[in-house]
Amino acid sequence: MNYRTGIKLFYLIVAIFLVAGSFFLLREAGSKPATGLPASQEAPPDNLPVTETSAVKELIFYPRSPAPGDFIIVEAGPLDKDVNAELVIDFPGNISRYYHLGGILYAVVAISYNTTPGSYNLEVYIDNGEAESSTLSAEFTITDKEFRTSQFTMPPSRTEGWTAERLAEDREKVRLARENTEPYPLWLERFIIPLEGRVTSEYGAVRIINQNPPRRHAGIDIATDEGEPIIAPNRGIVRLAEFLLSGGYTVIIDHGLDLSSTYMHLHTLSVEEGDLVERGDKIGTVGMTGYATGPHLHWEVNIGQTPVNPEQLMANELLWIPPAYAAEIIKRGE
Ligand SMILES: [Zn+2]
Repeated sequence: MNYRTGIKLFYLIVAIFLVAGSFFLLREAGSKPATGLPASQEAPPDNLPVTETSAVKELIFYPRSPAPGDFIIVEAGPLDKDVNAELVIDFPGNISRYYHLGGILYAVVAISYNTTPGSYNLEVYIDNGEAESSTLSAEFTITDKEFRTSQFTMPPSRTEGWTAERLAEDREKVRLARENTEPYPLWLERFIIPLEGRVTSEYGAVRIINQNPPRRHAGIDIATDEGEPIIAPNRGIVRLAEFLLSGGYTVIIDHGLDLSSTYMHLHTLSVEEGDLVERGDKIGTVGMTGYATGPHLHWEVNIGQTPVNPEQLMANELLWIPPAYAAEIIKRGE
């Protein structure tokens, strides 16, 4: 190859890169919905109704067709900060605290796994002073989902010495821990799995233990070796870290906005109540303390007191709620 041919080839390669690069950038810009969210937010999945409605945003929720046991994100606005708004649902579940940012009201709504599939309604009542009060509503479908039934026995020795009083005390501790929440999201990134392993019992499964009446499984069980580290799936504040009769060594992390995650049957605890944990921090190790037959993690996710599907937590949906700023969290965590 002579010098002139080399120069031509060089310019040709540069030109190809420039054309390809600008095409890629244009595509990127075109795919971003204009919602006024921070640039660091990941774009939501394609099926989310964001792009067309963002200019006149009123009431948005997603995912559009949730299943019993899922949670949905609700956005309403634009709203003035001091306007009273109330969200109303007509299915069994739990509405998180409201979170106002940039003129938008955000809430996380849990749909109980006991909900009958069908058509339901979501309403936001906005009190803008008498003349301007209004109600926004949206109809949506809760799809059918099949939950497995399993039957197994537990040796009576596993509950030796248990009293109804102690169990009630534990339940109250758990309830209070899940109620103790920051009024804004503490998470900054997407949620990650706290432990890799084999899922031995699914969320929502119907379980019959020792001929007792059927009970629903509020979380998922991940089995692996005793002593394996369990990590925080996201930033949060530890609200409970102690031994409970049924849960064994238990950790409850508040991620803000009524969203909490619970870890049971731990072998050892690595955190204390009040600790601010970052995503990926070790919170304890896998064990079989409490009501367990083998080493596994019982992982539960709650909106308020309603358990939701932990698998859904790792989708990108929650990133669509703009998180609080790190400085504010650090100040609170001190
Ligand atoms: Zn479990």
